[in-house]
Amino acid sequence: MSDFDYDLFVIGGGSGGVRAARIAANHGAKVGIAEEYRYGGTCVIRGCVPKKLFVYASKFSEEFEDAEGFGWTVGERSFSWEKLVTAKDQEITRLEGIYRRNLERSDVELHDSRAVLEGPNTVRLLATGQTVTAKYILIAVGASPNVDADLPGGEHVITSNEAFHMTDLPEKIVVAGGGYIAVEFAGIFNGLGVETTLLYRGEEILRGFDMDMRKGVHEEMEKKGIRVICGDVFASIEKDASGVLTGKTKGGEILTAGQIMFAIGRSPHTNDLGLEKAGVELDRIGAIKVNDQSQTSVPSIYAVGDVTNRANLTPVAIREGHAFADTVFGKKPWTVDHSLIPTAVFSQPEMGTVGLTEEQALEKTPNLDIYKSSFRPMKHTLSGRDEKMLMKLIVDADTDKVLGVHILGPDAGELAQVLGITLAMGATKADFDRTIAVHPTAAEELVTMREPTERLRG
Ligand code: NDP
Repeated sequence: MSDFDYDLFVIGGGSGGVRAARIAANHGAKVGIAEEYRYGGTCVIRGCVPKKLFVYASKFSEEFEDAEGFGWTVGERSFSWEKLVTAKDQEITRLEGIYRRNLERSDVELHDSRAVLEGPNTVRLLATGQTVTAKYILIAVGASPNVDADLPGGEHVITSNEAFHMTDLPEKIVVAGGGYIAVEFAGIFNGLGVETTLLYRGEEILRGFDMDMRKGVHEEMEKKGIRVICGDVFASIEKDASGVLTGKTKGGEILTAGQIMFAIGRSPHTNDLGLEKAGVELDRIGAIKVNDQSQTSVPSIYAVGDVTNRANLTPVAIREGHAFADTVFGKKPWTVDHSLIPTAVFSQPEMGTVGLTEEQALEKTPNLDIYKSSFRPMKHTLSGRDEKMLMKLIVDADTDKVLGVHILGPDAGELAQVLGITLAMGATKADFDRTIAVHPTAAEELVTMREPTERLRG
């Protein structure tokens, strides 16, 4: 008989926590989990899933326009934000139910409560005041959106959390930030007919991605009518009696809007969690420090997902949770490889990427062959839309190994998933070349680029 109430207690019912709880329970562990808000976490409740539903909704405006080039006459159309939000909420509630049921089916005990650490093996549930003990504790509480606390009028802005529940769509919006969330939401609002401005502090949006893709996304966003301002930030925001917001930027712009949304990064949700009490060490930005096995400075406490600020993506959190449960409860130790993570930005058009950017590749090896292709997707020959698709392969000229693939255009995210397999297998350019094309597709371009567009040497 164990001296503890549970073998594992998980704090946080998001992607990483739920996966770890279920896998540990399947390995025979007695598992409890606490969630203070809704099971499914950021991704399901107010992140990836509702965002993608909004992206689908926002694309219809262009689909209606494009249809005309194919002979369709599309009648008068109107859009109801309220209907979209209601439908999205129903779907999210359905998914949350599935998350709860899957946990229950795995015999995980659910606690609808905020939980805080009391010590290396003790957790207090704030809803009831109950204290529970566990041999191991897993912290999977994610991250929350940053706001600029020093900005005068900063209290008037919303974050992605509130954007999912706005009562009305504003006529105009300004989105501050230049990362995944800012770019994705700018596309959503623009597609839904909102006059949209993106305000980014750096020289080019989507820092960290390949420069050709960054420029490509920027250009296409502007073609769709989004105003993209780089190299500037808000200096102050005021709200008048009718609710209109006026933002002044340091660069002297005056931007009025019904809403201003900040998407300036997310921070690990580690406040008031009792981490100091238990002796769990944090890094400079408040993320929990972990080793390769996701173990913290306290041997009985582990952490996975965004709270550890490794690669802040849902599938990575799921992997980390799975590896933890297999290692600690399944006698099958393994670690997550964070080096080759395919990812997509659901900008419009979308961007899919796996492997190194040209800039990163140059830091590793001096000799690169770059293959680039820019073309009009077939659909737009008849739709008449001025939109380019961009594909880029980065090849190590000495070994022929493909180091990175970057795509901007329809279904780029789907392509990135498959390309991720080829790069994980160590594919060479010769492997791409001997693969027969699928015709007519856009993806065939990936296997038909013969000559490098650039040969970088030394
Ligand atoms: P990101 O870290 O991607 O981007 C933050 C942006 O805000 C950057 O452009 C950054 O500029 C800017 N910024 C940071 N601080 C300030 C400041 N004080 N004032 C003005 N601008 C600032 O964060 P997001 O919020 O977009 O997304 C959070 C995380 O969620 C991401 O790390 C991503 O992993 C994940 N996510 C993934 C998605 C996907 O897989 N499709 C979708 C949405 C989110 P700079 O570049 O100069 O630092």
